[in-house]
Amino acid sequence: MRGLMMDRPLMISHIIKYAEATFPDQEIVSRTAEGLLHRYTYRDAARRSRQLANVLRSLDVKMGDRIATVAWNTYRHFEIYYATSGIGAICHTINPRLPVDQFAYIINHAEDRYVFLDVTFVPLLEKLQGQLKGVEGYIVMTDAEHMPQTSLPNVYCYEELLQDQSDEFEWPEFDEYTASSLCYTSGTTGNPKGVLYSHRSTLLHAFSVLATPGLDLNEESAVLPVVPMFHVNAWGVPYFGPMVGAKIVFPGPKLDGESLATLINDEGVTEAWGVPTVWLGLLGYMRKTGQKFKALKRVLIGGSAAPGAMITEFERDYGVQAVQGWGMTEMSPVGTVSFLRPKDRSLPPEKQLEIKVKQGRALFGVEMKIVDENGNRLPHDGKAFGELLVRGPAITCGYYRNPEANTSAFDAEGWFRTGDVARIDPDGYMEIVDRTKDVIKSGGEWISSIDLENEAVGHPEIAEAAVIGVPHPKWGERPLLVVVREQGSNLDKQGVLDFLRGRIASWWMPDDVVFVDELPHSATGKLQKVKLREQFKDYKLPTVEEV
Ligand code: ADP
Repeated sequence: MRGLMMDRPLMISHIIKYAEATFPDQEIVSRTAEGLLHRYTYRDAARRSRQLANVLRSLDVKMGDRIATVAWNTYRHFEIYYATSGIGAICHTINPRLPVDQFAYIINHAEDRYVFLDVTFVPLLEKLQGQLKGVEGYIVMTDAEHMPQTSLPNVYCYEELLQDQSDEFEWPEFDEYTASSLCYTSGTTGNPKGVLYSHRSTLLHAFSVLATPGLDLNEESAVLPVVPMFHVNAWGVPYFGPMVGAKIVFPGPKLDGESLATLINDEGVTEAWGVPTVWLGLLGYMRKTGQKFKALKRVLIGGSAAPGAMITEFERDYGVQAVQGWGMTEMSPVGTVSFLRPKDRSLPPEKQLEIKVKQGRALFGVEMKIVDENGNRLPHDGKAFGELLVRGPAITCGYYRNPEANTSAFDAEGWFRTGDVARIDPDGYMEIVDRTKDVIKSGGEWISSIDLENEAVGHPEIAEAAVIGVPHPKWGERPLLVVVREQGSNLDKQGVLDFLRGRIASWWMPDDVVFVDELPHSATGKLQKVKLREQFKDYKLPTVEEV
C-alpha cells in the first residue's frame, strides 16, 4: 500500500524560493573579484536569480545543458548556482587552479555551452579559447564599468545581460533525479572524473548536514565558506545556508590570513568552513598580530586531516570550537563530522583531542563498511582497519561519461570505494588511517603516514610534514619524514626523532628525516604525495646499508 502523501519533487529552486519568503532581509555579503565589498539580501538574490534564469532562456539554454563557471565565492556565483539548476540546466563548476590541459579537457569533456567567469580568469580563458571549440559564449561576471578588454569571442557582460531582463520567472518543476550540477575530481593519475549531482541528492545532502548533531546552524549564524564554490559546491553551504536563513559571507578571491580575519570580525562570522591550509594562514596571522575573534564560534576543518595542534590552538587560544569533517567530491561531499559524544565530554583534554583528530561519525544517509584485501567485511571494533566503502543517496553511482573509471570504483554490491583506509569503532566513530595508495607497507604491517604526519606537526618548530614510503630491501617499505620547519628554526633530525619517541610505536619511527623549503600541493590545497614520491625517487634510506 502506498502512503497518501503528496508527490512533490525535491528541487533546488525551492531553496531560494523558501529563503526569499522566509528570510527576505537576511544578508549575503561578498568580497568581489573586482575588490569591492558587496551586500544584499536573500530577497535580492532570489530576484536576480530569476532575472538570470530569463537571461539563460534568452541564450537558448535548455534542460540538461552544461553551463560552466570559473569563479570565486561571490553573490554572482550564488545566483548562477540557482538560475542554472533552477531551469534544469547543469551548473558545472571548474577549479581554475587545475593544470591548464586538465582545465581544457574538463570543458570539452562536459561539452559546456557557455562559460561564466570572473574578471580574474579572463586571461586564462583567452589563452585556452582555441581549444574550447564547443563553447558558444563567455559571460564575464562584472558590470560595464569593470568590463575588461578581451579577445574572447561572443563575450557578454553579466550585469548588462541582467538589467535587460524581467525579474518575473516561474521556476519549472521536473523529476527530482534530474542532474543539477557537475564537479570533476582532480585524481592523482589520469584525467579528472566528473561527478554529476541531482536535485534530489543536493537537497538530501543539505538536510543531512543540517541534521548533524552539534552543528546548530540557524538564522543567527553567519557562515563563511572559505571552501570554494568551484569545488564540490563549497561543501553545500550555498544550499543549506539559505535553508536555515543563515547570513552568508563570501570571501571572493582573498583567502590570506589577514583578509579572512578582517572579514570574520567585521561581518560577525560565527562559523567558517575550509581546508587546513587556509586555517594555517589564518592562525599564523592571528598569532602574529595578537588579535582575537569577536563572534567566531566554530570552524569546520575538512578536505584533509585536521592536525591536533590546529584543533588545540583554535580551542585553547581563541575559544573557537574546531570540528573535523571528512568527505569526497563523490559524496556531495560531507560523509562524517567529528563531534564529541556526550560521554566523551568529561574526559581530560588530551583524551578529548584523541577523539577530535578522528574523522567522526557518519551523516544520516551515509553507510560505511571496511573490508580487507579480499573484500571481506572487517569488524567495527576500533582496532581492525581496511579499505572504506560507502553508499547513500548523495553518493555517486557512476562517473559522468567514464565507463572505464566506473569498472573499478564500486564493489560487487554497488558500494563506492573511497580509496581511504579506516577504522570504525563500536559507536560508529570513523578514523582515517591512510589512503590505500599512501599507507606504508612495512614487513607485512601497515604504517599510517597520516598518523605520523599528525604527530610530527605537533612539534612547535614544524610547520608542515609529509611521510612517504621508500623501498627497503628487508621491510619492503619504510617511512621517510619530510619536514618544513617554521621560519628561523634550526631543528635537526635528532630533535625530530626525540620528539616522536614515545608518541608512536617504535617500529613506526621514520628511518630518516629530510628538511625542505616547501611541500607540493594540489589545486585544492592537498599535499601531493605522488609529486613528493617523484621528488624522492632516487633517495636512499640511511638504514638500507645496515641490512
Ligand atoms: P575534496 O577535494 O572534495 O576534498 P576529493 O574527492 O578530492 O575531495 O578528496 C577526498 C579525499 O580527501 C578523501 O578520500 C580523503 O582521503 C581526503 N580527506 C578529506 N577529508 C579528510 C579528513 N578530514 N581527514 C583525512 N582525509 C581527508
